[in-house]
Amino acid sequence: YFFSKFFFVRAMSEEELYERWVRLVRQLEREGIIKSKRIKTAFLKVPRYKFVLDRYKHYAHVDEPLPIPAGQTISAPHMVAIMLEVADLKEGMNVLEIGTGSGWNAALIYELVKRDVYTIERIPELVEFAKRNLEEAGYKDKVHVILGDGTKGFPPKAPYDRIIVTAGAPKIPEPLIEQLKVGGKLIIPVGSYHLWQELYEVIKLDEKGRIKVINHGGVAFVPLIGEHGWRE
Ligand code: SAM
Repeated sequence: YFFSKFFFVRAMSEEELYERWVRLVRQLEREGIIKSKRIKTAFLKVPRYKFVLDRYKHYAHVDEPLPIPAGQTISAPHMVAIMLEVADLKEGMNVLEIGTGSGWNAALIYELVKRDVYTIERIPELVEFAKRNLEEAGYKDKVHVILGDGTKGFPPKAPYDRIIVTAGAPKIPEPLIEQLKVGGKLIIPVGSYHLWQELYEVIKLDEKGRIKVINHGGVAFVPLIGEHGWRE
């Protein structure tokens, strides 16, 4: 009796978390932030509450960033949706994410490309946090979390169709352009202030590394810290 009661309560709460999540996804769709069916499907498949600390699970459906360990954040759902819409991911694309954080965005990317995703994080505690979240959510062999400085990219799996940076850079890191395929895209917040940037869509035009930049407007990310980013 006790066991079944315990189980019932837990099951209810997961159901409620998911119900709230579905409501947020529908709201983002109504607001025109989630535009494509594929991104909606990915959001429904990978709810944010699976990637936050226990004490924040009840806030996972609130459209704001939330704290994760080491003073970092999991981005707001609308921000993640905007970046994924700009990234225009297709099945089979080779994607590098920089700034793993909780692992949530990397799991969403997996759902959109359906092939192994590589993601780099500079803080060891977050590498562990993300790996745990990804394993529990069923992405252990699908999303590969690498400890390192993502401003240098990840040459072993280059060239990439897409590179998605989820921290704010002072300028476009040169190695990331080098590691893109021609026609590939880099999505990156760039700005001269630590916590205020503009979201750039950078398209690599040719082998010489010429680029075209489309500015998608103001955003606020934690700083990208590394050799081709901010100094610590
Ligand atoms: N995409 C994450 C998610 O889904 O939870 C949120 C990312 S959080 C806004 C930014 C992350 O970038 C932080 O975890 C931070 O430690 C990481 N970061 C900052 N500079 C980095 C660098 N040079 N290389 C890799 N990760 C970096």
